[in-house]
Amino acid sequence: MTIAENIQHLKQELPDNVKLLAVSKTHPDAFIMEAYRAGQRIFGENKVQELVAKHERLPKDIQWHMIGHLQRNKVKYIAPFVSLIHSVDSLRLLKTIDKEGQKNNRQIKCLLEMHVAKEDSKFGLSENSLRDILESTEYQELEFVKIAGLMGMATYTDDKEQIKQEFDKLKAYFEQTKTTYFSGNDQFKELSMGMSGDYLLAAEAGSTIVRIGSLIFGARNYTKA
Ligand SMILES: *Cc1c(COP(=O)(O)O)cnc(C)c1O
Repeated sequence: MTIAENIQHLKQELPDNVKLLAVSKTHPDAFIMEAYRAGQRIFGENKVQELVAKHERLPKDIQWHMIGHLQRNKVKYIAPFVSLIHSVDSLRLLKTIDKEGQKNNRQIKCLLEMHVAKEDSKFGLSENSLRDILESTEYQELEFVKIAGLMGMATYTDDKEQIKQEFDKLKAYFEQTKTTYFSGNDQFKELSMGMSGDYLLAAEAGSTIVRIGSLIFGARNYTKA
């Protein structure tokens, strides 16, 4: 299967309301251009340096998403162009993004990353820390960030029931947050969940963005990257 065929297949499989984000980390420009020619415009990277370099080299109508853990001192490099930051997991980071958004005179869209997996190695907010952020005056004063929804990762396991439970939990956080803090506006609408191994479960559970790498581009070779 070619990259174009993989994309076409995924688009057929996914409901219309679920956006496909092609995770291009470690992959060369040629692969991205193949996806681009197949109509793909949303790409995700997890390293700032790679994201910036690819943004500079590749077509300007690509929407670049940051999906990896983001250090505050690196926000400035992506602030001028990033479409959506999926991985915001602290108020400090949000404040830095706001500051850089102001410098660039643009509002930067962010998702808050929730911790729902069993592994503690994964980043993300607890339900309580999510509430603390949204209820803080510091957050409410930010003008250059826009919280567009939530993101999360399920445990890396073959246990479908467990994955489903974690996605259901994330969807419940999403609905609850929307009702409590964002009612009456439509800015809070994205739920980023699902990867190559679990995107169908995620779509069933209410995902609006699936982040897919290996099923589009094949296995990643980190030593070459
Ligand atoms: C790498 C990565 C993905 C894509 O993983 P695949 O299993 O290759 O689809 C999705 N989300 C995040 C946050 C990632 O880092």
